[in-house]
Amino acid sequence: MNGFRALPSVDQLLQTQQLHRLIDEYGRSLVTKAARVALDAARSAIRNGADGTVEAARLPHLIGADLAAAAQTALRPMLNLTGTVLHTNLGRAILSAEAIAAANDAMAAPLALEYDLETGGRGKRDDHLRDILCELTGAEDATIVNNNAAAVLIALNTLGQGRESIVSRGELIEIGGAFRMPDIMARAGTQLVEVGTTNRTHPHDYINAVTPETALILKVHTSNYRIEGFTSEVGGHDLSRIARDANVVMMNDLGAGSLVDLSQWGLRREPTVAEAVAEGADLVTFSGDKLLGGPQAGFIVGRRDLIARINKNPLKRALRLDKIRIAALQATLRLYLDPDRLTDRLPVLRMLSRPQDQIAAQAARLAPLVAARLAPHGFEAAVTECASQIGSGALPTDTIPSAGLRLTGQGGTAPQRLSALLRALPRPVIGHIHDGALVLDLRCLTDDDALIQALSDL
Ligand SMILES: *Cc1c(COP(=O)(O)O)cnc(C)c1O
Repeated sequence: MNGFRALPSVDQLLQTQQLHRLIDEYGRSLVTKAARVALDAARSAIRNGADGTVEAARLPHLIGADLAAAAQTALRPMLNLTGTVLHTNLGRAILSAEAIAAANDAMAAPLALEYDLETGGRGKRDDHLRDILCELTGAEDATIVNNNAAAVLIALNTLGQGRESIVSRGELIEIGGAFRMPDIMARAGTQLVEVGTTNRTHPHDYINAVTPETALILKVHTSNYRIEGFTSEVGGHDLSRIARDANVVMMNDLGAGSLVDLSQWGLRREPTVAEAVAEGADLVTFSGDKLLGGPQAGFIVGRRDLIARINKNPLKRALRLDKIRIAALQATLRLYLDPDRLTDRLPVLRMLSRPQDQIAAQAARLAPLVAARLAPHGFEAAVTECASQIGSGALPTDTIPSAGLRLTGQGGTAPQRLSALLRALPRPVIGHIHDGALVLDLRCLTDDDALIQALSDL
């Protein structure tokens, strides 16, 4: 039985071949720290009766494992097989190759972000996006901020501060806890005037609520819920007319705001941004990383005089976009100029438009391969039908027929156990638990090998 004497010193440890390799990978400082921690652990193990020689032999491996664990980040790439295409908790839209390349270029070299290449004078960062946004939406003008919550905030603050803003009780939404329309209005400094009831709001509700203090009528897309049954809401067209007659601004917060009609892929018809503009809204707000398929951003499109006022708000500077996202957005928006190839190039639409039979064929192909990797751990895999969702508050009650793998094992907690195993992989695989099984919806799996590779690390 060997004691403390069997342990090397930190310096001796650092001289070994194995630790030299770790120093190459992680740097001397981190390796030295990890070596100290491992030696401390070894000493206390020996105090508790462990053998010094055995402990000493384990040291390089333990240090390597500690360093690898510390270097692993939760931000590592993973596979979203939840069936929710735009998963807010998983970062929403996957960007197109074009957007990624543009973002890369923007990170790697200087660019004319606020510089006019013709005159050599000062330019404006929003100029890179304004024209194409106007072209795609039919709006007069456009401005861009950090996200759609910021778009709503700055628009309400600019146009409604110290005055009243009218919203239907059926549209006083909360999105993901921290974004509640009444709270945003309070922060914007505008007085919320609620009209109608939860299920029904009529034109006269708005008309009667207008006072000399009214600044805005706000229409909010009820993104993450649907009121069904005995309902009535005032459409964008009528609301625009009411606002115009009352000489107040009508703003339509679309939320997901698609630039293209999704019904061509079997999804329910929702007004596009261009349609909301054409209905007569003075301003329309929408997100960059929802159906649009770009990075996080918030767009405000509409009347030039109103956009000019918003751009003068000091909040604009606090909420502006960085060059990386502006570059990625420009590349994303340009894809919309070529509608024929849009679904090939824009991952969000490519995934949403995948037909169920294609996904089912993929599931059939993958089932035996996945089953072979799960079998040693006591789990089985079978092909199943399932239902995908868009996510991020777009068409909240609609599902898209999909297919995937149903993973099962012995015992009532099998799905939870397997789910934890797959989350801990170097490339985590995230599914959803349904009906006593862990279901992997394959709608968002563009590369079969990625799943097989990920599971090989089980
Ligand atoms: C998602 C959403 C927002 C918030 O947009 P972010 O881009 O997430 O800030 C605001 N309003 C509506 C209606 C939404 O659906």
